[in-house]
Amino acid sequence: MSSEAWSALRKEMYSKFSSGAEVILLDMGKSYGSKLVVSLSEALTEEDKLSYGSSASRLDPRDFSRMVTMTGWGRVTISGDLETGSHISVSVANCVFCEGEDDVVLGCPFLKGVSLGIATSLYKAPFYIFSSCVNEQSRKHVCKFELSRK
Ligand SMILES: [Zn+2]
Repeated sequence: MSSEAWSALRKEMYSKFSSGAEVILLDMGKSYGSKLVVSLSEALTEEDKLSYGSSASRLDPRDFSRMVTMTGWGRVTISGDLETGSHISVSVANCVFCEGEDDVVLGCPFLKGVSLGIATSLYKAPFYIFSSCVNEQSRKHVCKFELSRK
């Protein structure tokens, strides 16, 4: 989906559902993120069976950052304690969901939900999440998500 199409969809949702749109987008993202973990887990399990026999390697949040970058949602960088997931920082440069938006107050609820869904499913634990979107030069948006375990 192009950033223009997403922007139109988002504006439509906000005009219909007002502040409820944020909750809908957040829930959509959460659901998408956790399903991504399930499908990638299944894919890796099959691959691991072929490559390493029974010793399956664990999924890493960086697998998702590569995947999300490849889908064209933005350039994703992940840092923090990825081993235990006690604290994770996600940064998305040129976020496609915020591109061309002047109003960054709305934040980035869909990608926030995706991050939350991935972290919750991957570490099988509940997380707090804080998000901030920064409008940088030439209207390039950087969305940042700070996750910490509850
Ligand atoms: Zn964004």
